[in-house]
Amino acid sequence: MAGYNLFSGDIPKIEADFVTLDFETANRDGASACAIGLAFVKGGAIVANHAWLIRPPKLSFDADFIKLHGITPEAVAGQPELPAIWEHLAKHLKGRLIVAHNAEFDINVLKNSLTHYRIALPALDYSCTMLLAQRVWPSWGKYGLAALAARHGITFAHHDAGEDAAVCAQIALKALGEKRSRTLDELMTTVQLSPGRLHPEEGHSPIVLLRPSQPLLFGSWQPSVHNRADQLVRRQRAESITDAVIHPGTASALINGYQVTLDTCTCPDYLARRLPCKHIYRLAAALSPQQSITG
Ligand SMILES: [Zn+2]
Repeated sequence: MAGYNLFSGDIPKIEADFVTLDFETANRDGASACAIGLAFVKGGAIVANHAWLIRPPKLSFDADFIKLHGITPEAVAGQPELPAIWEHLAKHLKGRLIVAHNAEFDINVLKNSLTHYRIALPALDYSCTMLLAQRVWPSWGKYGLAALAARHGITFAHHDAGEDAAVCAQIALKALGEKRSRTLDELMTTVQLSPGRLHPEEGHSPIVLLRPSQPLLFGSWQPSVHNRADQLVRRQRAESITDAVIHPGTASALINGYQVTLDTCTCPDYLARRLPCKHIYRLAAALSPQQSITG
């Protein structure tokens, strides 16, 4: 499992339920990725695990970082820069649920690197095994990748991007097993964590931790619908809507140009899913300002 592939641009099509991602960087600069590791998980097992070296935009490596991951300027001098690798990886990551350990770090490296090269962000949702582990095993105290691996009896070469991605995948699978969840979406709902997101137009929304909240009651919705992970995201996004004209007398509103009631909305999201959209949550919050919709 250890070590890096030479990047050939030839990655076979891989079916996956989720993909774990790990970056190593040359220094503190968030756009200085020098290695990327991926593990593809399907049906409860790792089905593929790859890692590549990346030539960062500048060949300036911090000595502490070299000590950590062992990657030197000489090792990456002849390797492709991120755009050449991304051209082949993007199709494997777009639209997928991405998981990383301390995901905001890795997602920021991806975001900063793509931005550095003026490449559009992909549309993807992401989760974090560190945050999941804190909620699944709340008494453990230490949630670094090495500490969690030790707890689970997993031995690995830490700060090898491919191995870190594989261990992240194994920890995600252990967490799924612990909570008897079939999917990561289900697990995130159980532990009240709403996925982070990258989007080419909307940018970056970090992972949101939701405190257990009172079940929401409005319209004709079952209370359980509001605790689904996809709904938690909408509840969160409702908070940032500013274009709302509320009509308390009729419990309706005009929000972002859509006609909204507590049961329906004219937006594409509601019409496609027939579940509360962010506009319906925005209206519900406006009509009951004493009850925070994020709990
Ligand atoms: Zn709507």
